[in-house]
Amino acid sequence: MPVADGAPGRDDRRVSTAALPPPAASPPSGSRLWRLMRWWMPVVIGGLLLGATSFLVNLSSVQERGEANDQLVTDTQWVRQSLQFQLEHDAEALELIGSDLRTGAMAPAALEARLRVFLRRGRESLSASLVEAGQAAPLLDVRDASVGGQDILATVPAVFIEAAMERAARQSEGTFGQPFTATWGAGLVLVVPAGLGPTGARRTLVAVFSLERLLEEMVPWTFAQSHEVIVSDVTNTVKARRASAGAGRGIYTHQVALDVPGTTLILRTNSVKGPPDWIANVLRGGVIALAFFLFWSLYALWADVRRRVKAENRLRDEVAFRRAMGDSAVIGLRARDMEGRVTFVNPAFARMVGLSEEALVGRTPPMPYWTPERLDEYQERVERVLSGQASAAPFETVFQRADGTRFPVVIYDAPLMDADGKQVGWMSSIIDVTEEKKAEERERQQQERLQTAARLTTMGEMASSLAHELNQPLGAITSYLTGSINLLEKGDVSKEELAAALAKASAQAQRAGQVIRRVHEFVRKQEPKRVPVEVTALLDDCRALIDLQARRDGVRVAVTVEPDLPPVYGDPVLLEQVILNLTRNGIDAMAGCPPERRRLEISAARLGAWVRIAVRDYGSGIDESLAEQVFSPFFTTKSEGMGMGLSICRSIIELHDGRLGFRRLADGTEFHLQLPPGQ
Ligand code: ADP
Repeated sequence: MPVADGAPGRDDRRVSTAALPPPAASPPSGSRLWRLMRWWMPVVIGGLLLGATSFLVNLSSVQERGEANDQLVTDTQWVRQSLQFQLEHDAEALELIGSDLRTGAMAPAALEARLRVFLRRGRESLSASLVEAGQAAPLLDVRDASVGGQDILATVPAVFIEAAMERAARQSEGTFGQPFTATWGAGLVLVVPAGLGPTGARRTLVAVFSLERLLEEMVPWTFAQSHEVIVSDVTNTVKARRASAGAGRGIYTHQVALDVPGTTLILRTNSVKGPPDWIANVLRGGVIALAFFLFWSLYALWADVRRRVKAENRLRDEVAFRRAMGDSAVIGLRARDMEGRVTFVNPAFARMVGLSEEALVGRTPPMPYWTPERLDEYQERVERVLSGQASAAPFETVFQRADGTRFPVVIYDAPLMDADGKQVGWMSSIIDVTEEKKAEERERQQQERLQTAARLTTMGEMASSLAHELNQPLGAITSYLTGSINLLEKGDVSKEELAAALAKASAQAQRAGQVIRRVHEFVRKQEPKRVPVEVTALLDDCRALIDLQARRDGVRVAVTVEPDLPPVYGDPVLLEQVILNLTRNGIDAMAGCPPERRRLEISAARLGAWVRIAVRDYGSGIDESLAEQVFSPFFTTKSEGMGMGLSICRSIIELHDGRLGFRRLADGTEFHLQLPPGQ
């Protein structure tokens, strides 16, 4: 970040919001952790929210499963109890018949009748028989009507019956055998000891049950509609199954032992219901989609904030950079709003006018740095600037410091735009031109001294001619006076004669005095002045001095002036200096020419509204290669020349807003000066 040179810690600078916004205070360094947290907090919270919602969805699905399972367990227990109760009941009923057989003889018809009653107790009972050990056929075999006369007992594997009989004999009570599979389905035998036969052989009552029928009979229809019910032996081999609603899905299952006297069966239930997944899945999908959107919007927000932070940083840098620029600038900067109120000043401007920035910002016209005598001028300028008529051209005026001293300034105004391109005020740069003015003044004085020196040189060159010129009137005066004295001494002089001689002497003395005065005026250092100057008078005044030189070099001089020329405005002495310089150069240029060619023509004529004065010679001319240099200072081709003449002439003419130039002619040169019409 750029820092103002030599102005550290100047944060108290007052800056208007329209001009430069104050920089935001930089966050304390200890907040790094906080910043990091601020960045990541939404992400963490979003993650937690997602986790918690998923957990809840899972929990509800697990809960639902648990509830379904609990229901299944209860139902299964209920089914188990019904089955067990039925079988035990069957066992008890047969046991009753067995015990009656064991305690006394019973007529076969009575036994058959009781067995038929036994069979009618439940649809699961297929047959009931009385068998005697050693006899191949049963003593009595009663079958349920539904089996259609099939010999059920014969279909039961003998081993199952024998094993059950043995156990029954041992325990002397009714016992079930292992479940078996026969042609008609899965079955179960119940054997009850029935005492001994007349031969002493062991008699046993054998009942055969169908497990499928047992399930059909005892499992409630509603339960069977939604569950597969299976009965298997202890080795988990499926013996009977009721699956009216199809195979179970294996999601909700339960198994319990079905204990009946003599054997253990396994009862398994398996719900056809699938898991309640679609709700969970929809919920989970919803949560995931929401989480995705949440993260996406967080990311977008995050990216946007990052962009903004970056832009803010850039802006802060820019502001600091601009402040440093304003602070380090040596020229004064001042911003004003559309009402003319000062909204910003830089230190250079405050220093310039000797007031603090605080004292300046917020001020409205009239400003403390306006000089009282120029109030109207300032006011008019402010109004012009604020009405949008300010030009890009610099404006020169004088400001006043707090201590009352004045100093010249140059002001440049430019419109101040806000971010939308709307003008919110004006920015001005103010340059203190005191030094420039001083330098200008020094240069002017220098130039003046140079001009004087050049005039002195011209005079120095003319000195001998001047002596000659003065000699003539002085000689004439001497002769007139000597003549007058002689006449007086002779005593025969009339008053008129003497007066005439003295008048001539006086005229000569005046002529000499005029020459001296012209020389004196010419060399005297004067402030340049601007007055209307008649061209004829100007040329007449020069004439005496031109003739001095011309006579010495045998040059003829011709002067032509257009009638009714308007006067030119300027300093007559300086203009004379120019003309004398040009005529002297012309005469010098003809020094090597045959005497008949030595002719100098001076002419003055209108050029539009301007006046053009030309000095034409028939001399050596100016070589083309030197044409560029003749106006350069110190350029001369003469052994005793200074080379300053034309350079000074040009600056004099430019001082008069005129132009000085020359034309190269076939037989000489024409120098001309053009002067604008006077105001
Ligand atoms: P200086 O007369 O001291 O040399 P000036 O600046 O007056 O200085 O003139 C510079 C030079 O320009 C002269 O030395 C001369 O070579 C040339 N010059 C000026 N006027 C004429 C003229 N009318 N004809 C030919 N050359 C000229």
